[in-house]
Amino acid sequence: MRIPIQLELDDAGFLDRLCPDERCGAEFKVLFEDWRDKVRDEAAFCPRCRHEAEPTEWNTPAQSEQIEAEVLRYAYGLINTELSSTARDFNRSQGPGGMISMSLSYRPAALPVVVPASASDLLRQTFECDVCHCRHSSLGAAFFCPACGHNSSVSAFQVSVDTVRKTLDALTGIRQSVCGATDADTAENSVRHILENSLVKLVSSFQGYAEALFDTVPNRAQFAPRRNLFQNLRESSDMWRTALGEGYDDILSPQEYSSLEVYFQQRHLLAHTDGLVDQDYLDRSGDHSYAVGQRLVVRPRVVGELADLVERLAHELCERT
Ligand SMILES: [Zn+2]
Ligand SMILES: [Zn+2]
Repeated sequence: MRIPIQLELDDAGFLDRLCPDERCGAEFKVLFEDWRDKVRDEAAFCPRCRHEAEPTEWNTPAQSEQIEAEVLRYAYGLINTELSSTARDFNRSQGPGGMISMSLSYRPAALPVVVPASASDLLRQTFECDVCHCRHSSLGAAFFCPACGHNSSVSAFQVSVDTVRKTLDALTGIRQSVCGATDADTAENSVRHILENSLVKLVSSFQGYAEALFDTVPNRAQFAPRRNLFQNLRESSDMWRTALGEGYDDILSPQEYSSLEVYFQQRHLLAHTDGLVDQDYLDRSGDHSYAVGQRLVVRPRVVGELADLVERLAHELCERT
């Protein structure tokens, strides 16, 4: 039995999707015609965690509610028109809950920050898969194509850098609109979250980019990089040097390289200690502007500088491969 249901699309024709893996819960959108034409019946992929599930498993709670309501309406319509005489008896014979019962599970939203609609549109990045050309968009990093699962870190990297730059330009507007919708405290917290997320996103997209690009070096077969090697600046720089003759510290100036080292360690803190400075950070980063127990302050200037550094490094590495 097929029941036609019209799900709502946004102005650009994208369909909201939600990763069914509870650890991830990423919210993303796929251009409706690509979801219909390019996603296979067997599986779709989460752009953030590459969780694999049947295409029916990606509804948002609102869509699940809508589908449930329409299925019920359809079923009751059938009962009324065709089975009116027997339906009452049938329903009476069923336990509480009626003839159709569905379970819905609700997951916490992936976005911890209050971002007004206009700002979240701005933060949204649209990606197109290099392989199958499925178009999708996401608020955060997107590493995989939802239709074919292809790892698109190389092309996603530039989109991430551009988005961070646009976000920096829009910070004043974001602060004002959150302040208008809520209060000054929430506005400051949102801006802080956005800056911290931008730093994390730049570092992690660069790591994803470097890892994907390294797969294309001619002598790739001679290397067996350990898991998460690209999260380590020194080790990955050394591996590039072995492969191409130059590492990160040959491409960047000593001062730029040590800034990059600090930002990599800051990403680690934001991801693992919620930004609280520990002894490990001081030892590894050589950044003595903080004491143990302080919390990192991420300034727009730093995020802009990091965007410039990783972008240049990415281009230079790409030219050498
Ligand atoms: Zn996911
Ligand atoms: Zn694809």
